[in-house]
Amino acid sequence: MIKKLNNTCMNEFDPDALDEVSAIGKIINSIKSLIKHEKIEIGKSLGRVISRDIKSTLDIPNFKNSAMDGYAVNLRLLKLNKYVMRQKAVSYAGKPYSKKLLNNETIKVMTGSVIPENCDAVIMKEMVDVEGMSIYFPKNIQKNQNIRMKGEDIKKKSIVIKKGEVINHTHMGILSSLGIREVPVVIKPIVSFFSTGDELISINKKLRRGMIYDSNRYILRGLLERLPIIIRDMGVVKDNEKALMNKLTLCSKTSDIIITTGGVSVGDADYIKIALAKLGKINFWKIAIKPGRPLAYGKINKSYFFGLPGNPVSAVVTFQLFVGPAIDKLMGRKESKHITIKAISQNNLSKKKGRVEYKRGYLKQDDNNNFVMSTGLQGSNILTSLEKANCYIRLGANVSKVKKGDNVTVIPFNIKI
Ligand code: AMP
Ligand code: MG
Repeated sequence: MIKKLNNTCMNEFDPDALDEVSAIGKIINSIKSLIKHEKIEIGKSLGRVISRDIKSTLDIPNFKNSAMDGYAVNLRLLKLNKYVMRQKAVSYAGKPYSKKLLNNETIKVMTGSVIPENCDAVIMKEMVDVEGMSIYFPKNIQKNQNIRMKGEDIKKKSIVIKKGEVINHTHMGILSSLGIREVPVVIKPIVSFFSTGDELISINKKLRRGMIYDSNRYILRGLLERLPIIIRDMGVVKDNEKALMNKLTLCSKTSDIIITTGGVSVGDADYIKIALAKLGKINFWKIAIKPGRPLAYGKINKSYFFGLPGNPVSAVVTFQLFVGPAIDKLMGRKESKHITIKAISQNNLSKKKGRVEYKRGYLKQDDNNNFVMSTGLQGSNILTSLEKANCYIRLGANVSKVKKGDNVTVIPFNIKI
């Protein structure tokens, strides 16, 4: 009775729904990271998760070299020779001149070329006067200027990439600068997904009244394909307990994670929860967020299971909030969080108290401020307002109204720290 009274249209409080922070915590705590790894060529390693710390076998730079095209000098000798010296030789990148600087000598150097051990400054060629082999130097020279020291970037035996990092182009550059050809990475987990619903029709078929095209499988494909995983599109399953159980059993034989959309609510045709309870374990199935309250999380055999809501925007939001971090944990990826910033709302916004709400917004900046405006209808079926958005506006469970000009918390898409 109390439950019914709390659930009036003034309020969306649901005593059975878990708050989102606890839900993420439960997911992260329940997932064991994969330990299997493989060695792959660095040219194929983009986006993969490093499975152990990588140590440098070299100093980078590996030799003292010039940061400029210019002249290498020894400052003490330069002063003794009243800032005029004789060009002794040229050191090119890849064709070094390796002798010491003597008496009144300078050598012409190119960017990246080896410079003599006793050289303690390089002067840009634009700063000197040249008369035949005599070079006239300026007097305001600083010790070590334009010199790249051995090991100043990377010291031999230091850790250059930590376990759990996702390899990006910079890592690929560092690894290749060390002459490393292969890296150990976590194996790709297998993620299977399927849509559920009697109303769903494949995009190559003719639409009939009351039916809709299945968009969630393409949304999930889009979200998953960026990740270093093996994805398995398992099609569409009808709202039928037996059929669902068969498909889930099949997926659980090979998958590390199973994702479904639809059928997770409390409607007469929602069988996901029942199937999950019969085949495995339900950890929780309701979260106090909008869009996306119904979300079943559990386990079937060795597979972690996410039953996402059917509405496309709910599927996206719950994927980003809950499934993304789960896949990261599974791959042993270093924990990261979506960045949040404050912005001035350009609209009056309203919501019901009782659950956190993610509204779709467009974030802009001028020199002093961030501004955010709603991108339109906020129903969880409205994909076009998600298409126009570049951020979510996150409104806390106790918020009911935001006035134009108020500060709100905004989560820009795709920036994690
Ligand atoms: P459900 O969670 O099954 O109650 O579905 C909620 C809403 O999402 C309904 O309007 C469904 O028709 C819609 N829906 C469910 N699955 C999909 C899908 N794969 N693609 C597009 N819409 C869907
Ligand atoms: Mg359904």
